[in-house]
Amino acid sequence: MEIIHYPHPTLRHNSKTIRRIDRELQSAVREMFELMYDARGIGLAANQVDLPLQMFILNVSGEPDNGEELVFVNPVVDQPKGSQVSEEGCLSIPGVHADVNRPSQVHIMAYDLAGNEIDMVVDGLLARVIQHEYDHLHGVLFVDRISDSAKKQIAQELEAFELEFNSLQLGKKIPDETAILKRLTEIESRYC
Ligand code: ZN
Repeated sequence: MEIIHYPHPTLRHNSKTIRRIDRELQSAVREMFELMYDARGIGLAANQVDLPLQMFILNVSGEPDNGEELVFVNPVVDQPKGSQVSEEGCLSIPGVHADVNRPSQVHIMAYDLAGNEIDMVVDGLLARVIQHEYDHLHGVLFVDRISDSAKKQIAQELEAFELEFNSLQLGKKIPDETAILKRLTEIESRYC
């Protein structure tokens, strides 16, 4: 398992509802936490590790021995209130940062890995991370939500990621689109 980078097509894939959780998926979640901590992130969505499933993890402390590890399965985010601008980055576009305007408070309903219901109203950093990760599950990246002038500022960096992706795909280090989609469909038929 590894964190995939922009413009990998799975990052634009609409993740599917999870209908069963097995041991393998549970260990995948554990592995996601390790990858997230190694990359110094505070949140990670399943499609960032090439799993097309409605699930994301977070720990706003960013440290394995600190804070609370949260897993959200089949989340629904609604009831946005207020707005706040803050700088964001993304483990799938490492090194790129930009200001994003988001609601400062949201409500989230989801399930944890044991099937318990999660129902929370959140604000501050937690609300921001939840919205960023929820976007991932719908194929949306933070760079889609920034101003035109900010887009111009990071255009070259994004282009470098595109060139890198193309060369990896040409060198067969990343499968072609058909093979990627076939694998996603297999995972979906197992869990969704
Ligand atoms: Zn991200």
